[in-house]
Amino acid sequence: MRRILSALLIVLTIPVISGRAQQAPALDKLLTTAEASRFASTSTYDEVVKFMQAVDAASPLIHMTSYGTTSEGRMMPLAVVGKGLKDGSAASVLATGRLRVHIQGNIHAGEVEGKESAQILLREFAQGRHAEWLDTMVFLITPIFNADGNERFGLRNRGRQHGPINGMGTRANAQNININRDFMKLETPEGRAFVKLWNDYNPHVGMDLHTSDGSTHAYHLTYSPPLNPNTSDAIMTMMKNEWFPFVTEQIRKKHGWETFYYGNASNPGGGRGGGRGAGAPPTPPTPPTPPTPAGPRAWGTFEHVPRFHNNYVGMRNRFALLSEAYAYATFEDRIKATNYFIEEAMNFAHRNADRIKKAVDAADREALAGKTLATRARLATGGMIEILMGEVEDDKNPVDGAVMSKRKDVIIKEQMIDRLWFEPTATETAPTAYYIPANATKALELLRQHGVTMEEVKAPVTGLHAYAIKENTQAAPRAGIDINGHALRTVTGTWTATQTAAPAGSWMVPMNQPLARLAFYLLEPNSDDGVTTWNFLDDLLGEGVTTYPILRKQ
Ligand SMILES: [Zn+2]
Repeated sequence: MRRILSALLIVLTIPVISGRAQQAPALDKLLTTAEASRFASTSTYDEVVKFMQAVDAASPLIHMTSYGTTSEGRMMPLAVVGKGLKDGSAASVLATGRLRVHIQGNIHAGEVEGKESAQILLREFAQGRHAEWLDTMVFLITPIFNADGNERFGLRNRGRQHGPINGMGTRANAQNININRDFMKLETPEGRAFVKLWNDYNPHVGMDLHTSDGSTHAYHLTYSPPLNPNTSDAIMTMMKNEWFPFVTEQIRKKHGWETFYYGNASNPGGGRGGGRGAGAPPTPPTPPTPPTPAGPRAWGTFEHVPRFHNNYVGMRNRFALLSEAYAYATFEDRIKATNYFIEEAMNFAHRNADRIKKAVDAADREALAGKTLATRARLATGGMIEILMGEVEDDKNPVDGAVMSKRKDVIIKEQMIDRLWFEPTATETAPTAYYIPANATKALELLRQHGVTMEEVKAPVTGLHAYAIKENTQAAPRAGIDINGHALRTVTGTWTATQTAAPAGSWMVPMNQPLARLAFYLLEPNSDDGVTTWNFLDDLLGEGVTTYPILRKQ
């Protein structure tokens, strides 16, 4: 109760949009909590909001607004940064015609560099830096996505991560849900606020800023584009051939730091050595395992499913850049690495703004009907790549005496098997439309939240295909922040012509729409991250059901 009352107080006492009349502090004296504490602390929610109000008051380029409310009632702050904007509304932003970039920090509230870097970036904008970027781009900056998790400060929320020594928030939100597994099912108010922001402002580019505590490598930061094999080729080609190589080269040239694709080193034979997925909770890292005669190790990325931010953004035909500052570098260096990453990524975006917009438009207009798309995928085994492994040493947190790992300036080059990209394990031919029965109310509501276009069927439609179910199984309910008690469902079968009509009152989902890739992945019965998976159709897929309730037109 006390918690709820104090959360309400915060909401009531902090105006969403601060007045220009407010006295602006001198910007060079405006420090983030991290800077003011010499990198011993990270900012609280209240401190982030005050910082954002200060830059808003100091600069006509910055408009602070809100894009949602957390489950504990915290206003989710959004800073809109652009030249000549009347206000921070979507209409104002869209009217500029500029490239729209969303920068998100703190989805995992123990991984706090993005929250600090985003505030530094806001101050730099207010100081007139990066002025050229604003000729081509408008920025939507949300430093503290998981605001409730941020307030659950603990000294040991991040295992052996090298600080901040005064603690950090939690991975999950206040509902104990990992928001970075929620982008398809949208069970969190934060996830729904994100999707609303994306539907309203329609960014071309989404950055999601994390901290990695996996393998002990030598990179100050690792990154990832969208990983689902259904992502538009034009988007993937630019990211892999130009955007990430540019970022790596510029950071090396200007700062001498190495960056590469996110991964963890696995032992020969498949076991993980000194690394875990981006999804696992923090545990002490194991030292790097040297190669054995059994063969080289592999450098493997995380998952392809669009429940993750980067994969979801790719599924919406947009560019996604995920970053993982290296957890065992100092907190100060992690914030720097994240700012360098944002800077070089945005230098590329500035020079290529028109091409990025064109690639997005082309992906939105691409006709998917008749194309073969993945419904499930696995990591593909590629050729050999050079990975820079590193070393850490023990350090002590002076606050509670806990052992932290600290990065050593060591680079050990190792040839590893490339396991960075996914290949389909099951596919379907994309149809021209899906037909959803009116009683699939939960699925229909989810599609509306995602912004998928639908039309109500006015008269029965025939000439459709139905999915004859071969297997319909449910896994045991799984606790934990990623699955949240869901009993994940898997359906297999075959689409064949049917006499059954879609009755009036059903909803037609046309596939000639910008969100067609997303609709396909949500609606295909065998999808590994769709409405079937997440139990939205459970009442229509009970025992004895032999046909999937959603029909389609080839
Ligand atoms: Zn993370």
